[in-house]
Amino acid sequence: MFRRRSFLPAICGVLMLSLPNPVWSNQKREPTPNFLFIMSDDHTSQAVSAYGGRLARVCPTPNIDRIAREGMLFRNCFVTNSICTPSRSAIMTGKYSHMNGVYKFTAMDQSQPTLPKLMRKAGYHTALVGKYHLHSNPVGLDYWSVLPGQGRYHDPEFIEMGDQSPTGWVRDGKRTAYRGHSSDVIAGKALDYLKNRRPKDKPFMFFCHFKAPHDTWEYARRYGDFLEDVEIPEPPNLLDDYQGRSDALKKTLQYIGSDWGNHTNFRRETKHLEGQTRRKMQYQLYMKKYLRCVKGVDDNVGRILDYLDESGLAENTIVMYTGDQGFFLGEHGLYDKRFMYEEALRMPFLVRWPGRITPGSTSEGMILNVDFAPTILDAAGAGPHPAIQGRSFVPLLEGKTPADWRKSMYYRYYYSHFKTEPHFGVRTHEHKLVYFDRIDQWELYDLKRDPLEMNNIYDDPGHKDVVKKLQRELGRLQNELGDDPGDVGNNPRLGDLAPKAP
Ligand code: CA
Repeated sequence: MFRRRSFLPAICGVLMLSLPNPVWSNQKREPTPNFLFIMSDDHTSQAVSAYGGRLARVCPTPNIDRIAREGMLFRNCFVTNSICTPSRSAIMTGKYSHMNGVYKFTAMDQSQPTLPKLMRKAGYHTALVGKYHLHSNPVGLDYWSVLPGQGRYHDPEFIEMGDQSPTGWVRDGKRTAYRGHSSDVIAGKALDYLKNRRPKDKPFMFFCHFKAPHDTWEYARRYGDFLEDVEIPEPPNLLDDYQGRSDALKKTLQYIGSDWGNHTNFRRETKHLEGQTRRKMQYQLYMKKYLRCVKGVDDNVGRILDYLDESGLAENTIVMYTGDQGFFLGEHGLYDKRFMYEEALRMPFLVRWPGRITPGSTSEGMILNVDFAPTILDAAGAGPHPAIQGRSFVPLLEGKTPADWRKSMYYRYYYSHFKTEPHFGVRTHEHKLVYFDRIDQWELYDLKRDPLEMNNIYDDPGHKDVVKKLQRELGRLQNELGDDPGDVGNNPRLGDLAPKAP
């Protein structure tokens, strides 16, 4: 075809010289990497032993840790809205809740640009297995097999591509049940994809999403004895009395022992106990269930990493591991997420990229869930999409933090259940300022001196200047990101839910 018009090569040469960088840099990146994005539900960094911490000894996660040992561990990866569906939507779109339309547990508008659509356009085979929880039928995925909603822990049902309902809702599709524990079944489906389903002539963008360790923490039977006789170390603020804090902590129902949701009260097992003794026992029982689920995820991550090694795929596959947000494991007496306190705000993030990331490296750089999509697109050699608000952290992976890299991040949680007050705030490397807008109360923490966030210094006269500076920064971020403080998330943008070609 090129021979028919002899002037074409000359034109191509001129065009190539004038093309923007991404195409050239893509040509340097040989060969195009595959992506394995592993995400668990509610797996928090305190329960990933690579982060150290009080649980590292009792519940090591050697397989997940391996990703950091052979790659990089991020100590400051944060979620922009700490609940499942909103975080998953932020990851898939690279946009904050107020821009992607998913403030709470509503369905994601599939008509907007998403990571699967953009990766497919970049020449990737795109697939997802496991927990999806975006409610609307996936668009942009070449293969999917997902749990309806939260799905079941034991003998889970899946809805597969082709079995979806024409109405556009995942839950209305045809369900097929599988025998076994969901973590084992999901890893089995991941191996099936990698071995049999992906086309061998294309790079892949594969999402493997575990349901565990989300409540109600039903572990596989083989872990029933794990930690049986072990006393789980307590966080120093398990019995936090919330003194000096806003009313938000006092009002929330996500404390250990709460009857709301019936997840951590263990009524039968603790009925002979009272007060603090009861709370401590509830903590032990909660943690054992949670950590047994974590153990199941870690063992299954090991199965998948082993296959990457055996098949030779490891060499050219970028492996990422994260949880969809952080989670409280007894800190402030809490479980669940939602609050902007460190344990729920911080996501575990470990990444391996052979030949590009120095093994065993650590980054203190502040990265966000909205950065995952632009980073993956960048690493794939695809150009940035203008709708994406996050920023590629590929330079951080290479150990080079740009001078203008973010030094503060914006967070916003919209009220749903648990009586956890809505709030928004700003976190820097030194401080955190939080505003509970519905009750008009503020909290300020010095994260260096008070990493447990027990001492609210908002009213301290010595911190007036810090408050002013952070309030200005909060306003700047809201302005830059296009968030209106008056938009309380009551009008989610559902958009077009019907499945259709991207
Ligand atoms: Ca979650």
